[in-house]
Amino acid sequence: MYPSTMPGSITSTADLRKHNCFQVYHHIYRQKQITQAALMQDLKMSAPTISQYLNELLASGLIEKSGFASSSGGRKPTLFQIIPNARMSAGLEIVSSRALLIITNLYGEVVFKKQLAVEFSNAPSYFDTVSQWANQCIRQTVPDDGRMLGIGIAVQGLPTATGLTGEMSHLPGTMFRLEQFSSRLHYPCNWIHDVELAAKSEIWHNPQIENAFFLSLNRELGSALIINHSIHTGSGNFSSIIEHMCLYPGGRPCYCGKSGCVDAYCSSFALSQIAGEPLDIFFSRLRLDNEYEKNIWEKYLRDLAMVIDNIRMVIQNHILLGGEVESYMTGEDIRQLAAYVDEMTIIKANDLTISRGFYGKNAAAIGGSLYYIEKFLSQLPL
Ligand SMILES: [Zn+2]
Repeated sequence: MYPSTMPGSITSTADLRKHNCFQVYHHIYRQKQITQAALMQDLKMSAPTISQYLNELLASGLIEKSGFASSSGGRKPTLFQIIPNARMSAGLEIVSSRALLIITNLYGEVVFKKQLAVEFSNAPSYFDTVSQWANQCIRQTVPDDGRMLGIGIAVQGLPTATGLTGEMSHLPGTMFRLEQFSSRLHYPCNWIHDVELAAKSEIWHNPQIENAFFLSLNRELGSALIINHSIHTGSGNFSSIIEHMCLYPGGRPCYCGKSGCVDAYCSSFALSQIAGEPLDIFFSRLRLDNEYEKNIWEKYLRDLAMVIDNIRMVIQNHILLGGEVESYMTGEDIRQLAAYVDEMTIIKANDLTISRGFYGKNAAAIGGSLYYIEKFLSQLPL
């Protein structure tokens, strides 16, 4: 979530100066454009104090003058705004058959997006290819003056607790070290479970999401529990792995080695496999009322409803849907899904709310980029 208060306590004059400068910057950030008089009034600081911080922020290249506010008489007051591209960050999503690079600015706005078709392989040539491509994209997009903060790598798998090794969860024998990337990328990097990043980006976009259960209906299904605007990851760096909860004992095989898992029925890959056609074709035929696709879709929604009902038996929460399948859904699909949950649940509290994510398939890569943006904003002024 976008940081609203500076971490740490104030024990010295230097701390107070940092705290005030933080307040000034973040107030401008939130207001988008603001005058010195409005800053004085909102932050209850004197004119010389505000003036001093504005000058410091102007000198550091973090804010700029952006014109004049209207005035009923006399000189028009100057407006200040942050410089959104003063710092930038990238998110690199690694999936089995492609890599996606997204660069965002300090407002989390996408300034660059590109995809590379590349099969994951735990070999130096793979890391060379992806890293060289990412370095080149960044070099061509971001001025080489220290504004690039880092690259958050979104991996379809859980990094180990140390964060130094991890594997692609659906590709056995793919354990690799973060060093494979960090030694090749020209910027600081870290990797994070993709669904955690996807949930983070949705929280960033909608700070109203305080508590929710996030279900990412992507090629591999992912889920995250959001509590107090944060992701509950659990002590072993994993939690809420709903995708491997058993839906049908002895059912369809799952990549994890078990059978009947949620992933085998509700991931976008599973839907495409069950239908025997790519999702764009499946949904275009569904919207033409084709009986074959309608039956498959009804079963899919009922299975997803069962997953949601099971989740709600453990934790009563708002449901946030994201990922590839969600991007094809209509408002009527969401209403139907809620109706199926209502039909099967024993808790007739009429309290189920389902909303849709904002970033769709790009959520994880954007979340990777926001990883370093959030860090920067929470540490200001440096
Ligand atoms: Zn499984």
